[in-house]
Amino acid sequence: MNIYEIITRKRDGLKLSAEEIEFAVRNFTEEAIPDYQMAAFLMAVFIRGMDAEETSQLCGSMTATGKIVDLSRVKLPKIDKHSTGGVGDGTSLVVAPLCACCGIAVPMMSGRSLGHTGGTLDKLESIPGFNVNIGEASYRKQLEKIGVAMIGQTRDVAPADKKLYALRDVTATVDSLPLIAASIMSKKLAEGSDGIVLDVKTGSGAFMKDISGARALAKTMVAIGKGRGKKMRALITDMSQPLGRAVGNALEVKQAVETLRGNGPGDFTSLCLALSSRMLVLGRAEKSLASAELKVRKKLSDGSALDKFRKLVELQGGNARVADEPGRMLPEAKMIEEITARVPGYVRSIDARAVGLAAVQIGAGRKTINDRLDLAAGFIVHKKIGDRVAKGEPLASIHHRGGAAAEEAKKMFLGAVNISPERPAPLKLIYEEIC
Ligand code: URA
Repeated sequence: MNIYEIITRKRDGLKLSAEEIEFAVRNFTEEAIPDYQMAAFLMAVFIRGMDAEETSQLCGSMTATGKIVDLSRVKLPKIDKHSTGGVGDGTSLVVAPLCACCGIAVPMMSGRSLGHTGGTLDKLESIPGFNVNIGEASYRKQLEKIGVAMIGQTRDVAPADKKLYALRDVTATVDSLPLIAASIMSKKLAEGSDGIVLDVKTGSGAFMKDISGARALAKTMVAIGKGRGKKMRALITDMSQPLGRAVGNALEVKQAVETLRGNGPGDFTSLCLALSSRMLVLGRAEKSLASAELKVRKKLSDGSALDKFRKLVELQGGNARVADEPGRMLPEAKMIEEITARVPGYVRSIDARAVGLAAVQIGAGRKTINDRLDLAAGFIVHKKIGDRVAKGEPLASIHHRGGAAAEEAKKMFLGAVNISPERPAPLKLIYEEIC
């Protein structure tokens, strides 16, 4: 077997065998296949696709390059949540501590921002002292103690993905269904959970712009997980505008704390509740979605979820006062300015991807993996799709440190918002559910 033949077969649209996929992934990870050949392989997969069996094999081979975290000493059902990536999507910060008050454990291994989408690790690191690299032993111990831990992927988790993702990022092969599904699930299968609730985004800020692509991605990932004995459920949710009001790391943490206090934005809170209730049902901590939703609402309103967040922050070295005084404890931008509407009307659309890229421009996200972030930078979105706006009224506030980048970001934000005389039809938050 050799990689040249494997590339040729995929280039010609043939189905690859399990052995061929395993050969390509293992040898690339061990640096026996050079980047230029793997880039050609990835492009062949991008263009020709992979069927369900090949995709599942790709995922399994990627997981097998590392080890599977052993969480057998954590006695509660272990249920994780994963989003395919969006703008303003800080739901993990709420969902993880909330579910950990409701009879399940939440082992969460997250990623960093890349491109226009945010990353949970960067958001957590805007909390002074918060350590996302506590190591596997402390991760396990913390899960046993308080039922929740939020860390970055350890070096041993699907190392093939790190190398493959870096190559995809520079060869225009990121937005391929089999490559995304295998990438996400290879890491999720390694982290030791019993089940996963997937939040598959669709719309302008998502990898999958339309519902049929999102549905296909959700079905593929659910099938991969089930095939390996995981309990799986996926929601297809809206990302055709930023979720909630905050876009940017510290701003999203502040919004999460407000949500844990019961004062979060409507769409953001609803999605947190929908995801959390499904996690409880998947972990069999509740029998029905209705009873699960009652439980999570109660834990939100009686302060238990905020308390759990406080403990989580404290155990991971962060300043727990962030739960009480987020405004004082989180980094703040030097400048806050309003971006105002040029014309009156109704907000018809907000290009979420463009807003994400505007946030990257002021340092809230990174263009390359080595970029330094400005954790205080970002936007607070005042007007969302369907809102009425007068000429000169603020559409958003931009939190920044000045300079040409901020001027560019303001222009990008204004360009992302489309205002029209007619009120658009209301948007759905959750489109479909796949079990
Ligand atoms: N997130 C991942 O982890 N991998 C992808 O390919 C896309 C989003």
